[in-house]
Amino acid sequence: MTDCCTQPGLIPIETARATLLRDMIPVEDTETIPLAQACGRVLAAPQIAGINLPPCDNSAMDGYALRLADLEDGKPLRLAGSAFAGRPFSGEVAPGTCVRIMTGAALPAGANTVVMQEQVERQGKSVFVRGTLRRGEHIRRRGEDVAEGDALLEAGTRLSVARIALLAAVGIGVVTVYRRPVIALFSTGDELRPPGATLGNGEIYDCNRTALLAALTQLGVDTLDLGILPDDKAIIREKLARAARDADAIITSGGVSVGDADYTREVLEEMGRVNFWKVAMKPGKPFAYGHLQGTPFFGLPGNPVSALITFQQLVVPALTAMQGGTWCPPVPLRAKLGKALKKKPGRTDFQRGIYRRDPAGGLSVEPAGNQGSHILSGLAEANCLIILPRDSGNADSGDSVAIEPLGVPLAP
Ligand code: AMP
Ligand code: MG
Repeated sequence: MTDCCTQPGLIPIETARATLLRDMIPVEDTETIPLAQACGRVLAAPQIAGINLPPCDNSAMDGYALRLADLEDGKPLRLAGSAFAGRPFSGEVAPGTCVRIMTGAALPAGANTVVMQEQVERQGKSVFVRGTLRRGEHIRRRGEDVAEGDALLEAGTRLSVARIALLAAVGIGVVTVYRRPVIALFSTGDELRPPGATLGNGEIYDCNRTALLAALTQLGVDTLDLGILPDDKAIIREKLARAARDADAIITSGGVSVGDADYTREVLEEMGRVNFWKVAMKPGKPFAYGHLQGTPFFGLPGNPVSALITFQQLVVPALTAMQGGTWCPPVPLRAKLGKALKKKPGRTDFQRGIYRRDPAGGLSVEPAGNQGSHILSGLAEANCLIILPRDSGNADSGDSVAIEPLGVPLAP
């Protein structure tokens, strides 16, 4: 049996990730930018609420603001005016009166309850309330979401859409974030042509660089796109030296395996240091991590699915740390496997899957097509990764397996 212990240099993914997280040096420089442009960026300062949210008691319904005690004698209330969102009622709700109120309008002084309009009958200025009300009903309280002075987000927090909404709601318009690390990126391979070009015999399109540029942009880092490099040691040497000089980290794809034209790792070994280059994961065993004049280097495998999964599993945590953020391991879900999966013990498996809710209310998961590390259609269709532990073997239909959902738009 082949496993981590019998394949020299093959290290568990947890060890690889822990090494990367330990080694990364966060950027120190900061910049202050408009909040709307800060999605994906990492806060360099804690954010404190300068106001209460909501800033004042207001109505959660379209209805009438009243004094609950006035309803005891069953008499109608007299309509004294109206309150709109942004146009409050200026007076006080006197005994025996009520105020027409819209959702979001400030609760007028004197009122302690809102009745929704569906529970009211109006005859001119007389308002009859049906049914019973609870004191304080349909009122959104000042500060019930956030109290003035509350610590909202700590330094090191990555801004998501939801966190941007929170900061905007307390009136924060600009934030101080760490500068974007500059990530140099190139693909290697004589067979690669950029999308849009005409393919010659035996050539393929370089999809890794396009996909990685998109992923890096989404992560909130700057990119230094060094294009496609041929399998030529001298050119790889020259570009690696430039990347080490101009970037905070270097990402390459291809050329880190054991083929005759796999030069990237060799050149890295010559010019710098390779910390490890075989990770006990599938896809993605050849993943080279090292340093070049102090600049971290991530050599992704060439096969596109391997490149993107090693990027997601290993490089994203490292870049998060480099951005000044804290990488939070995703919380895996459990799902019932709908189809047997083949696996040899020795490497953690990241199979592409499609999970859904089954009729019994639990989650079930099916593999998303062919699991070859060159099969992009399955990755594009997948909504999760099925994670099979390193030492496990085949998984049977009906087994409970760990899944990691892919892509949650509001999450950090
Ligand atoms: P390598 O790791 O360089 O041996 O490449 C492994 C496989 O991935 C080969 O089939 C390559 O043609 C393919 N490959 C390498 N780089 C890319 C890329 N940037 N885009 C698409 N396929 C690639
Ligand atoms: Mg290659």
